[in-house]
Amino acid sequence: MRFDGKTAVVTGAASGIGRASALRLAAEGAQVIAADIDAAGGEALSAQSEGRIVFKRTDVCIDDQIRELMDFAAQRTGGIDILFNNAGAGGARERIDEIDASGWDRTMNLLLRSVAMGIRHAVPHMVARGGGSIVNTASVAALSTGMAPTAYSVAKAGVLHLSKLAAADLARYRIRVNAICPGLIKTNIFAASMEVPDALKEQVNGMLAGIADRAQPVARGGTPEDIAGAVAFLASEDAAFVTGTHLVVDGGILVGPRHSWDPATPGVSEAIRQSIAASAGGSKA
Ligand code: NAD
Repeated sequence: MRFDGKTAVVTGAASGIGRASALRLAAEGAQVIAADIDAAGGEALSAQSEGRIVFKRTDVCIDDQIRELMDFAAQRTGGIDILFNNAGAGGARERIDEIDASGWDRTMNLLLRSVAMGIRHAVPHMVARGGGSIVNTASVAALSTGMAPTAYSVAKAGVLHLSKLAAADLARYRIRVNAICPGLIKTNIFAASMEVPDALKEQVNGMLAGIADRAQPVARGGTPEDIAGAVAFLASEDAAFVTGTHLVVDGGILVGPRHSWDPATPGVSEAIRQSIAASAGGSKA
C-alpha cells in the first residue's frame, strides 16, 4: 500500500491507460480524483471503486477547468501528492505539408498545454503538502518517426522536455517530475482518432490487438496495466531519486529495425542472398 494517505489526480481516467492507472493507484491506497470529458465512463469507474475514486468532469483543453479540478481535489482530500497528466487523443492527422494552424493549435492544447497547466495548477497544492510526484504521458512517438501523426509526435516531444524543465523548476519544493513513453498499447485511442462509427469500434480494437501482438520484440500487445505499473513506480517513493527523465514502456518497439529482432524479416544482406538464390534458381530453369 505505497499510497496510503495520498491523493492522486489522474486525467483521461475514463478509459485505457488513465483508467488502469487510477485503479492501480487506488488499489495501493490512494484517494484518486479522476478527470475526463467522458462523464459516463468516469462515473462508471467511480462506481466500481468503493469510494476510492471520485470523478470530476474536466476538459483539459480549458484552463479554468484544470484549475477547478486541482482545487476540488485539494478541498476534498486536503492536498495533492500525485498528478498523472495523461488525457489525450490522436490530434490532427495531416502531414506537415498539409496541416493547418487550427489543427496544430488544437493538438498542442490537448497534449502539451494541458500538461503545463496541470502542473501549474497542482503545484500550490503539492507545495502545501511538502512535495509530490508528477508523471506526464508522452509516447514513443516523442522519440521516433513513424509512430504517430506529426503534430501529436511534436507535442509529445514537448511533454518530454517540459518534464525535464519542470523537474528543475520544482526540485526546490521536493516535487519530482517524470514522463512515461508508452509503446503500442491496446486502448480505444485508435478507434477514437479514426472517428469510426460506434458499431465499428470493437472491430477496430480487434484489428489493433492483432497488430499489437506482432509490433515489437515482446511477443504480445501492450496493455494499459503495463503502463499503470510503471506510473505507480514513478509516483511512489521507490522512485525517490528519479526526476527529470522518462521511462520507455514499449515491449522493445524502439530497439531497432524489425529485421534485428524478427527472424521472418530479412535484413539487407539476407535480402540480397535471397535475391541471388532466386535469380540463380531462375537462370537454371
Ligand atoms: P484512451 O482513448 O483509451 O483514453 C484517453 C482518455 O482521455 C479518454 O477517456 C478520453 O475521453 C480522455 N480525453 C480526451 N480528450 C480529453 C480532454 N480534452 N479532457 C479530458 N479528457 C480527455 O487512450 P489511451 O491510449 O489510454 O491514451 C492515454 C494517453 O496515452 C494519451 O495521452 C495518449 O496520447 C497516450 N499514449 C497512448 C498510446 C497507445 O498506444 N494507446 C501510446 C503512447 C501514448
